[in-house]
Amino acid sequence: MSDNHHNYIAGQWLKGASEIENRNPSDTRDLIGLYAQASRAQLDSALAAASEAQRIWARSGLEQRYKVLMAIGQELMQRSAEIGRTLSREEGKPMAEGAGEVYRAGQFFTYYAAETLRQLGQTADSVRDGIEIDIRREPIGVVAIISPWNFPMATACWKIAPALAFGNAVVWKPANLTPASAVILSEIIARQDLPAGLFNLVMGAGSEIGQALIEHPGINAISFTGSVDVGKGIAASAAANLTKVQLEMGSKNALAVMDDADLDLAVSCAVNGAFGGTGQKCTASSRLIVHEGIHDAFVEKLLAATQALKVGHALEAGTQIGPVASAAQLEANLANLQLGQQEGAELLTGGQRLELESPGYYQAPALFIGGSNAMRINREELFAPIACVIKAGSYEEALSLVNDTRFGLTAGIMTRSLARASHFRRNARVGCVMVNLPTAGTDYHVPFGGRGDSSYGPREQGRSAVEFYTHVKTGYIAAGAPL
Ligand code: NDP
Repeated sequence: MSDNHHNYIAGQWLKGASEIENRNPSDTRDLIGLYAQASRAQLDSALAAASEAQRIWARSGLEQRYKVLMAIGQELMQRSAEIGRTLSREEGKPMAEGAGEVYRAGQFFTYYAAETLRQLGQTADSVRDGIEIDIRREPIGVVAIISPWNFPMATACWKIAPALAFGNAVVWKPANLTPASAVILSEIIARQDLPAGLFNLVMGAGSEIGQALIEHPGINAISFTGSVDVGKGIAASAAANLTKVQLEMGSKNALAVMDDADLDLAVSCAVNGAFGGTGQKCTASSRLIVHEGIHDAFVEKLLAATQALKVGHALEAGTQIGPVASAAQLEANLANLQLGQQEGAELLTGGQRLELESPGYYQAPALFIGGSNAMRINREELFAPIACVIKAGSYEEALSLVNDTRFGLTAGIMTRSLARASHFRRNARVGCVMVNLPTAGTDYHVPFGGRGDSSYGPREQGRSAVEFYTHVKTGYIAAGAPL
């Protein structure tokens, strides 16, 4: 494979206006490759080609769409270990998580392959005599997809697969931090029997090519995952053009640990939710809200479990926590650690930058105790291996702390009480609620999304995706006078 990687535009692999380096966060000496940055003219040409190709694809038989999506999904699943290694090399998650993510990315394609064959409409009688009604869905057109670096394959695929399944064209701008995964996925898609221009990869900086893409009059819908500030800007641009938009942004998820919880299970769910993926998940549980009756015992075990985590090179066997994704993210994390201490939380363990054999962005998982929900470290998404324990005097107080946030993606409760679990399931103001499970970890065949500042627009994944990627058309047919 060449070290210079190109964009895929209108069915061709093209050099960009410039290139960026992609370096391994586990070992910054390791240059993964040089990746093209698309020009404005290339973006225009991608959008023009997408519009043409979409008209052809929308007329294609469902069987063709099924075959294409199934082939992409199966290749991703078969090659999950190999592609996952590259993903881990550029993003920093341990190899098992990299392979797992690629496998999951494949499942999105096989799931939506099957959904192509389940596009059933509805019929209805009119309120007027002699008229029948047919309600069907049609593609939305050209979809701009903007994806983040933390799940570079899975997030992109849960958007690209339904977009194609429901008859749309795609112009995809992946995060510049993880272009290698994007190029591999695009190579797989480019080998399929698709009209030239139906799928386009336009790499480039979000503030430049990303901004140009979302403002472009040639797009009909935008699906974005990333930060709240960028999401709000995208919503404003979309409103100016009346473009359909779907945003999945940050969160400040909480795991409530009750005094009747299975202590070992609670600790394991807290560690998994807080530090899995180096804490860089929109579903991470960075707030651990713990009933005072179990607080000290929980903190003692959580401290031991946190200190036992092995931080290391993402590609080394035995690594449980990889590096953080970038120098900028590490810098922000270190600043947030200081902030937490200035605000009065006690840093029980971790947080320091680690010098390992290879030069990378390593950080020891950090645990704060004595936090309050008013502290900024408990209000803003940190996207870091940093968790804070907040003590609660009762279940009611814990629930109110869980809900005291502008976000609302996931929340979890650890309890043996069916009554508390049921009450929590109904009253946690989030999109996804977990009982005796980590706050992170969701399925692909059911809706995913949140409330408040976490999400905006129709839900992603499962059958819900049809809402975003299609228009509804209601047809009235005069059937003539009854015989
Ligand atoms: P961003 O929101 O900046 O990036 C997400 C995606 O949007 C990337 O592809 C980025 O491109 C692109 N982008 C950036 N600016 C624009 C723009 N003006 N118009 C169109 N696209 C744009 O997130 P960061 O990567 O900077 O991460 C910062 C914080 O965001 C994290 O610390 C975390 O709190 C949150 N985040 C949340 C995620 C989630 O899963 N909900 C995922 C990622 C981040 P590029 O990267 O090439 O600039």
